[in-house]
Amino acid sequence: MSYQGVLDRYGPLLDIPAHTKPVTLLEGNTPLIAMPGLADELGGDFELYVKFEGMNPTGSFKDRGMTVAISEAYGGGSQAVICASTGNTAASAAAYAARAGLRAIVLIPQGKVAAGKLAGAIAYGAEVIQIDGSFDDALSMVVEISQRQPIALVNSLNPYRLEGQKTAAFEICDVLGQAPDWLCLPVGNAGNITAYWMGFRQYEQTRSTGLPHILGVQAAGSAPLVLGRPVDHPETVATAIRIGRPARGEQALQAAEESHGRIIAVSDEQILAMQKRLAAHGVWVEPASAAGLAGLAHELQQGTFKITPGQRIVAVCTGHGLKDPDIITRSMAAPRVLPAKVDVLEAVLAGK
Ligand SMILES: *Cc1c(COP(=O)(O)O)cnc(C)c1O
Repeated sequence: MSYQGVLDRYGPLLDIPAHTKPVTLLEGNTPLIAMPGLADELGGDFELYVKFEGMNPTGSFKDRGMTVAISEAYGGGSQAVICASTGNTAASAAAYAARAGLRAIVLIPQGKVAAGKLAGAIAYGAEVIQIDGSFDDALSMVVEISQRQPIALVNSLNPYRLEGQKTAAFEICDVLGQAPDWLCLPVGNAGNITAYWMGFRQYEQTRSTGLPHILGVQAAGSAPLVLGRPVDHPETVATAIRIGRPARGEQALQAAEESHGRIIAVSDEQILAMQKRLAAHGVWVEPASAAGLAGLAHELQQGTFKITPGQRIVAVCTGHGLKDPDIITRSMAAPRVLPAKVDVLEAVLAGK
């Protein structure tokens, strides 16, 4: 039978209620891409892979958790779902709710959501509401409304989101035959780092696949877990991780500590430089998705990273570059215009 999505492949390994009714867009099973050229550039004698989560149906890893959260809500008889979002959760919730025929309501911080994400949420038919406030404000609103109204919350506070997101760790172990030595990933609301750690531990307990060290990476203007306190006005170009009060912050710190890894911050300049560098190797990701690798590059440069030859490093690239086209096009001049004449083209290509 062909691939049928993460619930079909990994359902028995997930802690979900019996009433769950699969709602899928065949998410998961994303490519693990070897990056030997980038590893060389970073000066490391290691094997580097990108887990390209931008290849999920709505363009981000959120689909792994959303298929499970929506399947549970749908099977449990919910009629409506709600979330706060920096964009990708909104698009994903909208798509899976549409698939199940549920009402989807999404709250986003006004003016801080990348074009491709907002367009997705609207295209899939969600009721999109902008909040004159931050993601953190929107999250506390949806938590409260889901307690007052019969509306299912599908943010990563919903435990079924994490159950679904564990499957990315399973896939990495299944492809490599064991866990990598290091896993690098961006950290925003901290659901994903928590889910990966749960997934790797579960596989280690049941299949002895080993455990990675985890390098969680925040943006410097939005780094509550590095600063050790909430950030009231988070700012970064990496809008997907522009979060000042991570809902799973404690668990993220625990994952870093238990794995003998760490959580660090990198600047927006480092993030954008890594986005460019990755694209130069054929993988275009949205800014937040470059943060994990930017953190790896930073650690290697500082000489604080102890890697022995042949070790494997997996960087999670959480969302597709198409989500945030403006970040690329706004800083460049429009491509030149030529008359429709091949002689002119030939002269231009020859540098005349
Ligand atoms: C949601 C998201 C993140 C952050 O994940 P958390 O689970 O909130 O830490 C990072 N990158 C992208 C592209 C995202 O959509």
